[in-house]
Amino acid sequence: MIPALLAHWLEVSAPAVTMALKRLKRDGFVEVGADGIVRLTATGRETAYRTALRHHLIERMLTEIFGMEWHEIHEEAERLEHAVSPAFEAKLKEKLGEGGACPHGNQVLPESPAQRKQRGETQLSDAVEGQRYTVISLHERDPKLLLFLHSNGIGPGQSLRVVSQNYDKTVSIELPAGISILGHPAAEAVWLRPETGR
Ligand SMILES: [Zn+2]
Repeated sequence: MIPALLAHWLEVSAPAVTMALKRLKRDGFVEVGADGIVRLTATGRETAYRTALRHHLIERMLTEIFGMEWHEIHEEAERLEHAVSPAFEAKLKEKLGEGGACPHGNQVLPESPAQRKQRGETQLSDAVEGQRYTVISLHERDPKLLLFLHSNGIGPGQSLRVVSQNYDKTVSIELPAGISILGHPAAEAVWLRPETGR
């Protein structure tokens, strides 16, 4: 990862990234190569995994134990993940396990698009006209996007049919409530699996 990309991705200033990287480097979580590329150390990788796992477990707790909906949990999980003790985290892990998908359909660590395509999954932006699909997962880093998808009737497990991939890069889909048209940024965030035998 290069620092400029981090700043863009996190929507913070370049100096803020420089400061944070300095601390992460001092504490042994990242190293910065001669090429300027920032890499996680083994300790950094381990810590990143544990942070992601904590977020994942809290999301699953909120939906699987407390029945909250996938579009409601983002802020709650962001707050709680800084508050849980290691003992409580261990309890959650014991109860829920590490293997399941979160309510947005994602595993603990993000998978690469190549890995997902190999499993036969496709983004809505690339989906085939006329074909029926089931929504498998949503890109979940942007809560506004999640609310937008929810208000358009799109969520994990939803069945839909692709009506047309349009010239302006939008895609028209058929849902139980009728036809919806999604722009490229939203369509790209939705992963699908083709439904067979229909
Ligand atoms: Zn999630």
